[in-house]
Amino acid sequence: MNEHVTGRCLCGEVTFTVATDFQQFYLCHCQQCRQITGAPYAANLLTKPDSITWLSGESLLRRYDYPGRSFSKVFCSQCGSGLPFITQSGKTLIVPAGSLNEQPKMQPSNNIFWEEHLDWVETSHEAKKCQHYPE
Ligand SMILES: [Zn+2]
Ligand SMILES: [Zn+2]
Repeated sequence: MNEHVTGRCLCGEVTFTVATDFQQFYLCHCQQCRQITGAPYAANLLTKPDSITWLSGESLLRRYDYPGRSFSKVFCSQCGSGLPFITQSGKTLIVPAGSLNEQPKMQPSNNIFWEEHLDWVETSHEAKKCQHYPE
């Protein structure tokens, strides 16, 4: 039997479990990922479509398919959190790394669409590290 990891949205209504045998872990720097996440890049794990089991809140899920490109987002209609979804081709389950309750047992393998990355992403980890807000 596969190992599983749990995940949820911020408001907690949507919960799921997903098998941990992820195939890829990508950081995507494309403009669409930046806009749809509001973050400098998207961190997504890729796995098989049947790896997920929704535990609660499935009726709250909403899907947005970007016109003209195989690009989608699924989110909780109550709190807006990004959640796992099956690609338009039906071949892959995309799991936003931030939706998991635990860290995956793998490191990101590729920075994809790197041509579109924001310059400050490369130096952001050099910024001063604080436990809460800066003094
Ligand atoms: Zn929610
Ligand atoms: Zn992207």
